[in-house]
Amino acid sequence: MVYAGLGVRTLINAKGPATRLSGGIMRAEVASAMAEASQSCVDIAELQAAASRIIAGATGAEAGYVASGASACLLIGAAACMTGLDPGRMARLPDSQGMKNECVMVRSQRNFYDHAIRAAGMKIIEVGLPDRYAGAGVRDAEAWEIDDAMTERTAAVFYVADSQSRPPLAEVTAVAHARGVPVIVDAAAQLPPQANLRRFISEGADLVVFSGGKALGGPQASGILAGRRDLVMAAALQHLDLDVFWDMWEPPPSLIDKTRLKGAPQHGIGRSCKAGKEEIVGLLTALHMFIAEGDAARHARWLADCEIIAAALNGHQVWVTGREDKAQVPSVEITPDPARITPAALCRVLQYGDPAIAVDPAGRDRGVIIVNPMCLKPGEAEIVGQRIAHALA
Ligand SMILES: *Cc1c(COP(=O)(O)O)cnc(C)c1O
Repeated sequence: MVYAGLGVRTLINAKGPATRLSGGIMRAEVASAMAEASQSCVDIAELQAAASRIIAGATGAEAGYVASGASACLLIGAAACMTGLDPGRMARLPDSQGMKNECVMVRSQRNFYDHAIRAAGMKIIEVGLPDRYAGAGVRDAEAWEIDDAMTERTAAVFYVADSQSRPPLAEVTAVAHARGVPVIVDAAAQLPPQANLRRFISEGADLVVFSGGKALGGPQASGILAGRRDLVMAAALQHLDLDVFWDMWEPPPSLIDKTRLKGAPQHGIGRSCKAGKEEIVGLLTALHMFIAEGDAARHARWLADCEIIAAALNGHQVWVTGREDKAQVPSVEITPDPARITPAALCRVLQYGDPAIAVDPAGRDRGVIIVNPMCLKPGEAEIVGQRIAHALA
């Protein structure tokens, strides 16, 4: 086992596909497609053009692209919105002076991942007063506030998709498009449901990103960018290796229309977000399998593991969430008896036991630990159930 050779312990991931836990478990077919891809060299732009076709088919977008994560896709997507197809601007980033370089963002949607947008040289203009979160009221940002904040410096509206997000995306794209401003949607973790592959594009998003390493089950270091052909072209040009001679360079026209360029851009700001042929092939394989499995079968697979864990904890306070809704990821919520062990202490016992089990402590303030089935391997649900039962006894 490679990890034993490195002196690194493996863990049972009952938290879900978190980067700090190395993501999830790829299916054998995905891993073997990556191994096979590693044994031949290809023209990487041709492979990205094939990815573009497949991602377009899966999302309903005009074009698509693969980079090293959803976050990487946000960075190159933001860059594309600032530079357009101008090689000089591409070369200057992250210095975005003299370009449209602001994005309007709802204040309640600010999060750790918006670093990716700022890293490209974009400045975030926050709008809205999220007093529904403060407990003081019911409102959040409204479409007219986004409209008010757009100026001649606005390169994009940045929208983070979630069931809680306000205002609705369709209202945001309507006000943005009325001013000719593109909308970038961070939908990194918005799968399942599978319908979300198409939903944001159909609601008017100009670019949308998804993580390859979350529910899609692709390589941990992969992400999808899907959207308008010209913006995907601008993103590709800032990501690809462009150490080329202009007269010898024949990029695939479906991805890069050379006739629209005044010259070959230099290596761009996205060069640090590279995806290898193995990641691209692995992601496309995973995307195919994700669509082939479908929400109902996936939900049934995850729910079966949740029921095994809940059954092992019979007699304790345990609750399976998302049993009925096939669009959701079901989970197990366990409320330990506070007189015996706190949620945080229970998480620690599991995390530092043998084998180590990572669970989700996000519910600790309401007294629960959460078990997420997405990254469990066959046989692990039984172990998780037994170990939690033992820790609670
Ligand atoms: C996970 C996540 C990301 C980052 O995705 P990576 O594929 O790990 O780069 C970005 N935004 C949101 C909202 C996420 O949940």
